[in-house]
Amino acid sequence: MQRISILGATGSIGESTLDVIARHPERYQVHALSANSKVEKLAALCERFRPAVAVVGSADAAARLSTLLRERRLPTEVAWGEEALCQISSGNETDVVMAAIVGAAGLAPTLAAAHAGKKVLLANKEALVMSGQLFMDAVAASGATLLPIDSEHNAVFQCLPVGYQRVPQGHGIAKIMLTASGGPFLQRDVATLETVTPEEAVAHPKWVMGRKISVDSATMMNKGLEVIEAHWLFGASADQIEVVIHPQSVIHSMVSYIDGSVLAQLGNPDMRTPIAHALAWPERIASGVAPLDLAEIAQLRFERPDLGRFPCLKLAYDALRTGGSAATILNAANEVAVDAFLDRRIGFRTIDRLIATVMERLPAGPVTDIGSLLEQDELARETTRALIRTMPTIRSTSS
Ligand code: NAD
Ligand code: MG
Repeated sequence: MQRISILGATGSIGESTLDVIARHPERYQVHALSANSKVEKLAALCERFRPAVAVVGSADAAARLSTLLRERRLPTEVAWGEEALCQISSGNETDVVMAAIVGAAGLAPTLAAAHAGKKVLLANKEALVMSGQLFMDAVAASGATLLPIDSEHNAVFQCLPVGYQRVPQGHGIAKIMLTASGGPFLQRDVATLETVTPEEAVAHPKWVMGRKISVDSATMMNKGLEVIEAHWLFGASADQIEVVIHPQSVIHSMVSYIDGSVLAQLGNPDMRTPIAHALAWPERIASGVAPLDLAEIAQLRFERPDLGRFPCLKLAYDALRTGGSAATILNAANEVAVDAFLDRRIGFRTIDRLIATVMERLPAGPVTDIGSLLEQDELARETTRALIRTMPTIRSTSS
């Protein structure tokens, strides 16, 4: 029986994880669940999965959750804040950690799980993008098992040779090819992107996801973050990672070998497949995902990404090539900008302009420890917020 803590249990990935776990009660026991503020939803999950601990984001949320759990006569212990998150991700009572908090808020507990040598199922790509080398060093030092949940990276992982050692050349690998759906604005007239609304941006054609990653998919910053994620997970350079647009999202990514072979992983676009794969690895378990019907899909299309339409993808490649804290700065500026866009304080195209400006203004420095990392992260956030304050409020047209 494996004991699992789910960071971000009320989110899209959290929900899919619990769906898979519920299908295999003989294999997995939920030790802890976390949520930021959705206490009603978390209380219902506690009733269903009976974790020993539930962690929320504030004292107020903890008080409300405690009341709900008392009403349900549940013995779940309630805690709140970052230290409590680190405790459930690194304590002796857990074997597996699903890191599915969105954004930088997930860094500390995900890193704690890596330091503690857990089996870390990584959905929270921002944590790895921010901390890069520090994160991989923690995994290497503790002997943690790091398994990618991002569908592309999970697909690459499945197409790599067993025992892969993070050196593509050492295994005859020429390229890692990440597929991208292109998001909701692949066909849209670029001139009209200035005025798209948050509702239009989060309406992803293929995947149902949280709001932040949905906006990232619309700008293709999501793919940019994934290029950086692939660099750290697989030891590939920027030149060894290629992005190809594939609107059907059936091929989740590919590995191209020097003999001309290209291995791909296919499946319906449903996150329960990578989640089940990582949970059971190296075994296989049922996930509840419908079998792929290729004849029904009939056609798979591919095209090169247009960097004029998707400048965020170029900014991410630039950050990866620059190295040091450039990716930390990119990620921080993006989180602040996306938040402002979802709040209707800035327009859609302002997201990429803000990130480019912040990256120009802040030189990338070395990331030697968590202190210097958080300093540069905070400076980039403050710089982005200050830029937003100086801009006229841009409201989306249909709100
Ligand atoms: P979501 O918005 O649906 O859920 C986010 C979860 O994080 C929630 O449980 C929320 O309570 C928690 N959370 C948010 N802010 C927090 C804070 N400040 N402190 C503590 N907890 C907080 O997001 P999601 O779509 O499930 O994505 C989660 C992560 O997985 C992201 O990093 C995303 O990039 C990655 N990911 C998601 C998908 C997907 O299909 N949804 C695919 C690949 C990768
Ligand atoms: Mg992905």
